[in-house]
Amino acid sequence: MLYRVDSSEIDKLVFYLSMEILKRNKALEEADLRYIWHPFTQMKQWIEEKPLVIEEGRGCYLRDIYGRWYLDGVSSLWVNIHGHRCREIDEAIKEQIDRLSHSTLLGLANVPSIKLAERLVQITPEPLSKVFYSDNGSTSVEVALKMAFQYWIHRGEKNRYAFVCLENAYHGDTIGAVSVGGIDIFHETFRPLLFKTYRVPSPYCYRCSLGLKHPGCGFACLERLEELLETKADEIAALIVEPMLQGAGGMIVFPEGYMRGLYEITRKHRVLLIADEVAVGFGRTGRMFACEHEDIRPDFLCLSKGLTGGYLPLAATLTTEEIFDAFLGEIQELKTFFHGHSYTGNPLGCAAALASLELFEKEGLLEKVRDKESILKNWLQEIKELKHVGDARGIGLIGGVELVKDKETKEPYPYEEQMGYRVCWRARDKGLLIRPLGNVIVIMPPLVINDSEFEKMLEIIKESIVEVTEKDMST
Ligand SMILES: *Cc1c(COP(=O)(O)O)cnc(C)c1O
Repeated sequence: MLYRVDSSEIDKLVFYLSMEILKRNKALEEADLRYIWHPFTQMKQWIEEKPLVIEEGRGCYLRDIYGRWYLDGVSSLWVNIHGHRCREIDEAIKEQIDRLSHSTLLGLANVPSIKLAERLVQITPEPLSKVFYSDNGSTSVEVALKMAFQYWIHRGEKNRYAFVCLENAYHGDTIGAVSVGGIDIFHETFRPLLFKTYRVPSPYCYRCSLGLKHPGCGFACLERLEELLETKADEIAALIVEPMLQGAGGMIVFPEGYMRGLYEITRKHRVLLIADEVAVGFGRTGRMFACEHEDIRPDFLCLSKGLTGGYLPLAATLTTEEIFDAFLGEIQELKTFFHGHSYTGNPLGCAAALASLELFEKEGLLEKVRDKESILKNWLQEIKELKHVGDARGIGLIGGVELVKDKETKEPYPYEEQMGYRVCWRARDKGLLIRPLGNVIVIMPPLVINDSEFEKMLEIIKESIVEVTEKDMST
């Protein structure tokens, strides 16, 4: 069978198909601008630009509708662990779909949620032994806050209605989570709606709010906490903290010993401790949970983001037998925890989480993270030499590079200059997707990233910082 095709016919066909693809892409972009309100986004600015529409993922890469591939440098915002389209997780979800996609935990139990709860209790710090499911990080925090508050009521200590949080803290966007937030540009607007909290200094040593220098300060920030608890402990339900690293507050890595000190103060003054590991949990700091670094045994542990390997929205709040027992009583005593969500314990999410946890073991992922940590640490040292890098810090596979206008005085770039964004936009042109937190450039690739991909990512960030802060600015 032999026939000839006129090459100009092929050209016409290719041209026609390309036009169809372009038309489809343009329609998608226009529909995004018309219909979607994006989170944490100034929409006036958004609609002036062309949205980057992602349609496929593979490993550590994402592909847009034009066929360009980008390295996913922020793990799709903290969540992705084993890469996109990870075979084992894909299969676990497909198998679960063939049995059951959802059934409620109100009045019923389901198989994957039981198996996952057992697994979570096994791998989290003692004495956490009970699992309460919800759907996202914010709700996992709400659950902990409400449980802590109600626990004291059951104990007969009804004046404990305040919480302690840290400056620069981020615990989510629902009103309870915002109440314990410490980032003014996000949280201040809502102040009139929020419940009572005490804010203590954050161990943000590069910009110490007490004007001190670590080491040598003797953890004066912890002394402030101790002073507070000495006078107010009997009105405080709990202290909430992101162990080892404040994420959204600017990738603030705690100095060694801080978490241990904080923990001991809460024990001494009988204040419950809520460890919010929504961001740092599941291996990102080089340990399965950040609490393990300094042997912290919290009363509550909040988990979400990486729980399902970045596949499905699922969260868990773990607590102790002691807290759980305080809620037991006769039905008319109304000691029940009246809280729950429609999708609580979703079987698909739980199946994905179980597959993800299995992969951690099978792949020896934590050791791999610790190996890559040295690449990051060396690079952070190197990047500190740049003219507009004030500080560079990291733990595990998480890094933050703080850009400053003036290195001597630590003067930040003004907010409206959007220096962080400009660096990230430059990186995008070079095939890397990252997001800034104000003037801090964030590094948190999927944990499975290989050495050469990781080195390439760091190189692109360095080039982008140099080009935007040194070259563009000088013209
Ligand atoms: C992201 C985050 C949350 C909120 O999680 P969502 O799933 O976005 O609601 C809570 N705490 C910390 C530490 C986080 O980083």
